[in-house]
Amino acid sequence: MASTLFDIDGRVALVTGSSRGIGRAIADGLAEAGAIVVLNGVNAERLAETHADFVARFGADRVFARAFDVTDADAVAAGIAWVEETVGPLRILVNNAGVQHRVPMLDLDVADWERVLKTNLTSAFLVGREAARHMIPRGEGKIINIASVQTDLARPTIAPYTVSKGGIRNLTRAMTAEWAEHGLQINAIAPGYIHTEMTQNLVDDEKFNSWILGRTPAHRWGTIEDLVGPALWLAGDGSKFVNGQVVFIDGGMTVVV
Ligand code: NDP
Repeated sequence: MASTLFDIDGRVALVTGSSRGIGRAIADGLAEAGAIVVLNGVNAERLAETHADFVARFGADRVFARAFDVTDADAVAAGIAWVEETVGPLRILVNNAGVQHRVPMLDLDVADWERVLKTNLTSAFLVGREAARHMIPRGEGKIINIASVQTDLARPTIAPYTVSKGGIRNLTRAMTAEWAEHGLQINAIAPGYIHTEMTQNLVDDEKFNSWILGRTPAHRWGTIEDLVGPALWLAGDGSKFVNGQVVFIDGGMTVVV
């Protein structure tokens, strides 16, 4: 029984922002577990490179790629329609695409505030809504929104990011309130400080790096691989009665002061 609870073989999964970083690692983990994966990003060249890499490992019938901007409602609708028609019924969606923007709030431009909220939060609504329109009539679907420790915690210079990730928590709950009765499970993964391109400058900053190590009970940065197990659990049948939760994968950072 345990093996079927975690079996996602042949299920179609779309991971937004999977040309690199955390999204790429989650897509890799889903593909390793047998899912048919659709990669996404905006930079077509980078996406094509990642796609070629995945095809070499998993085969052209197991990995697809579609570049579209997750903040553009029309592009999102066309992207999801393409997945449904070309790849198959979408069963797993990971809303991962996101950006960071570091500046003190007093110096923050409205345009940057809006760009971060649109990319990190509005996108999850747009892609989630479009996916749910297909999943609901079929009575099943998994949506995994990527949150952050900033879902719970604030820090100077990242106001729009913190607001967007707090919003992801309540978007996850709002989706659950409306869609759980149709057989969808919508949950969020909240990674702690994970070493990726996005955080390389922080890893290189000696003061920040030693703060992270001291602040994290596990005394290390997270790796992108640390996120794969929880993603697989939330993507499969083993989490069928888990609804609207935010699972923190942070080495314990948010449970201590
Ligand atoms: P990266 O910067 O490494 O990758 C971001 C990905 O998102 C890229 O594939 C990028 O595509 C894509 N993307 C950005 N904007 C758009 C858009 N408008 N439409 C489609 N795709 C887009 O980020 P990370 O891997 O570090 O972060 C991924 C997610 O994890 C984010 O939501 C982030 O907030 C979250 N997170 C990250 C943590 C960390 O420590 N790194 C910690 C907690 C949460 P392209 O290559 O085309 O630009």
